[in-house]
Amino acid sequence: MGSFGNGPAGDRTGPHGIGGGGGGGGGGPAAAVDKGVDFANYFCTYAFLYHQKEMLSDRVRMDAYYNAIFQNKNHFLGKTVLDVGTGSGILAIWSAQAGARKVYAVEATKMSEHARALVKANNFEDVIEVIEGSMEDISLPEKVDVIISEWMGYFLLRESMFDSVICARDRWLKPTGVMYPSHARMWMAPIRSGLADQKSNDFEGAMDDWHCFLEDTRISYGVDMSILTKPFSEEQKKWYLQTSLWNNLHPNQVIGTAATVKEIDCLTTTVDDIAEVRSNFSSIIKCNTRLCGFSGWFDVHFRGRMEDPAQKEIELTTAPSVDNGTHWGQQVFLLNPAVAVSEGDEVDVSFAMTRSKENHRLMEVVLDGRLKQSSGNLLQPFRKLFYVE
Ligand code: SAH
Repeated sequence: MGSFGNGPAGDRTGPHGIGGGGGGGGGGPAAAVDKGVDFANYFCTYAFLYHQKEMLSDRVRMDAYYNAIFQNKNHFLGKTVLDVGTGSGILAIWSAQAGARKVYAVEATKMSEHARALVKANNFEDVIEVIEGSMEDISLPEKVDVIISEWMGYFLLRESMFDSVICARDRWLKPTGVMYPSHARMWMAPIRSGLADQKSNDFEGAMDDWHCFLEDTRISYGVDMSILTKPFSEEQKKWYLQTSLWNNLHPNQVIGTAATVKEIDCLTTTVDDIAEVRSNFSSIIKCNTRLCGFSGWFDVHFRGRMEDPAQKEIELTTAPSVDNGTHWGQQVFLLNPAVAVSEGDEVDVSFAMTRSKENHRLMEVVLDGRLKQSSGNLLQPFRKLFYVE
């Protein structure tokens, strides 16, 4: 998925779209959240075919799930499957086509009605049961052999939908069951990007415009608003300089070694394991260039489980690519100003990602870093907070 918020230009909602704003719940697991607010902010976007179509048109995503299912039919033939967040019903239908005996397709939004129509039109009414409701609230008549779900948000964890998959797993997966996907990883790497200068210019432009506005308001309407300069500047700074950006990077914008900041075994990970991600990583700079910031992306793997491995392991990666990329793109965390770096320099970063207190589906990232030149010289350390919105 990946659709609420900061998606590519022209995208109304972002990859799995969460609108910003309060979600309540103070960053805890989904159970503590105000469901009405969560529905208004998060689920509502998934009720649009427009949005489902965006995900259904992402060929990297589609090919990975398609191959994972059809090249591992042994996991599906005659088995019971739970599709967490079925959306249009696509993964449920593929599971049925691969020979599943029964598929429970759970969807929180009214998209369930379209899924039901699609299931009927494809003659799988006897196999697939579409259930409208929250995964956390509904009940199944039996435990299942497979849980399949496309739960990944921007930079993997945005949207916190994996919480719902964990809840489904702990309640409904047989002890011998398999997870599709089975593993996930988050990656970070240093990058160069023209966006760093662009966003600084945008911020300065917004402040220049503010000063003209102050002058106008004072002269035309007799009120001095300059007391609001500081809060306006903070608001604009957050928007232009402290919010991570959706971007489809070219691989040659990655200027140093990429590092894994989190690995998830979908069979065993708990909500506590993912509510905060902390990691230290080092990257060696590959060329003489400017360090403009960092990029984050993820991959997931379909490996089955150790005792019952996939016949064919499939990978879905959202790493920078020369092809069209995915609707997830990458998240870009810009440093201002950019720093000149040389081949062989090392950048050491302590990475921390936590859930926003106002909305548990949004994230905050702190990058605490320092640059060690190959000569041994240490440059000024940096510490920066970003909002993943
Ligand atoms: N499986 C579909 C849709 C993926 S998008 C596909 O691969 O194309 C994720 C879907 O999960 C959305 O439609 C969203 O409404 C649904 N969803 C997210 N959390 C859920 C929950 N806790 N219970 C039920 N549905 C959920």
